[in-house]
Amino acid sequence: NVRVRFAPSPTGPLHIGGVRTALFNYLFAKKHGGQFILRIEDTDQNRYVEGAENYIINALNWCGIPLDEGPNKNEKFGPYRQSERKNLYKQYAEKLIANGNAYYAFDTAEALDFHRKDHEAKGKTFIYNWHNRLKLSNSLALSAEEVKAKIEAGHDYVIRFKSPQDETLHLKDIIRGDIKIDTNILDDKVLFKSDGMPTYHLANIVDDHLMEISHVIRGEEWLPSLALHYQLYQALGWEAPQFAHLPLILKPTGKGKLSKRDGDKLGFPVFPLEWTDPKTNDVSRGYKEDGYFADAVVNFLAFLGWNPGTEQEIFNLEQLIEAFDLKRVNKAGARFDPDKIKWFNHHYMQQQNNAIIAEQYKPIVDNAINSNIDVNYIEMVVGLVKERATFVSDLWDLSHFFFKAPENYDEKASKKAFKEDTKTILTTVAEIINNTNDFTVENLQKTVKGWITSNEIGFGKVMMPLRLALVGALQGPDVFDIIYLIGKNETISRINTAIK
Ligand code: GLU
Repeated sequence: NVRVRFAPSPTGPLHIGGVRTALFNYLFAKKHGGQFILRIEDTDQNRYVEGAENYIINALNWCGIPLDEGPNKNEKFGPYRQSERKNLYKQYAEKLIANGNAYYAFDTAEALDFHRKDHEAKGKTFIYNWHNRLKLSNSLALSAEEVKAKIEAGHDYVIRFKSPQDETLHLKDIIRGDIKIDTNILDDKVLFKSDGMPTYHLANIVDDHLMEISHVIRGEEWLPSLALHYQLYQALGWEAPQFAHLPLILKPTGKGKLSKRDGDKLGFPVFPLEWTDPKTNDVSRGYKEDGYFADAVVNFLAFLGWNPGTEQEIFNLEQLIEAFDLKRVNKAGARFDPDKIKWFNHHYMQQQNNAIIAEQYKPIVDNAINSNIDVNYIEMVVGLVKERATFVSDLWDLSHFFFKAPENYDEKASKKAFKEDTKTILTTVAEIINNTNDFTVENLQKTVKGWITSNEIGFGKVMMPLRLALVGALQGPDVFDIIYLIGKNETISRINTAIK
């Protein structure tokens, strides 16, 4: 039975890379008919940020990635917040001490700092491991009574994992294959602190075990923890889940890890939703508020490190589930291309139902002209111009002339379009339009074009000034579509204004 979890720490808004991790977990779970679980890893109280958990849940909802289990959701293996599970972890730390895989350490922060600096001065890196362990203040040279006395006397302690000397660990990763690790490069990681809280490592593997997680799919930044996690499973006598470490997401230049600053610099969000920092009130932009469709963001994120092995790029969520395979996830970092996500958005804009776009566009229109425009009219306009739009917010520039007469005419275009005989020509066009009773696009087109041909006037001489009169520029959709939509009276009024 496939059970995967997304296990963010609520230390701030969820980075777009975190959403990618959640998505891959979700796709894998659904592909195999398994469960997708949200676990909140909030053991580090100092880094807890108000509102971050809600943000994570809202972001997943917006993306359309539903949870099977999580806080307040089908709590079979709950609670799903580590802070609410804190009494659970100590027994496992103690079990590790009892079976010789962990020990108490009483080093003060100053002492550790001293050792670190002392090593640095000699050009070495200090590792808390078998080599240095015995020089440090820990329980390995003490009797059980001495340890107990020290703890009872109120000495601060941590519980550390006892990393073995001169062993080679054989680790497996679904994406990276076999990995060999020399234990001499590992340090004795802290598992439990005297404030009664476990560290990430202990809480993470205890919960993965108790929640019966079958596959751990997470970012590459956790690969260095894999050796410890493997050893912890072994030391606790548990079967380890399978692991898959997803490739880093790289800056648009392809060099280095994508950061919030890259987004600020190049003008794209790195968060799914807008976020207001509760301490500074700084606002970070979000894809949603910037006008991206969730489907486009999801489609884009799926391709950050994965590809289907075919030319197909457009996938909805269901198709992604169908096509997804961890074996097709790359090891190499995935470059984040903000233009590509725009490309997806443009595509989804074309696919989107015009009525839905019209609902979103209506407030922009109503606000711009301080009116209440019929949403069906807006829907027809959307149908005519969306081809050139990537965002709903692009629509106004492409379609304002459907809602109000031009206030001026593009200067260069005027020189090109308005000639000496324009007044006479447009006067006749206005008459023809006025006399057209069967007011359809086809009939308008037929009548005006018929008149142009039979009088051998030249299309440009008529159509250019006509367009300019209606639009104010030489752009926009078909002139007859515009005439039809704005109507007879408005068309004639705009022509009259232009030739006044
Ligand atoms: N809490 C860790 C994070 O913030 C979870 C890492 C993991 O998935 O093991 O990413």
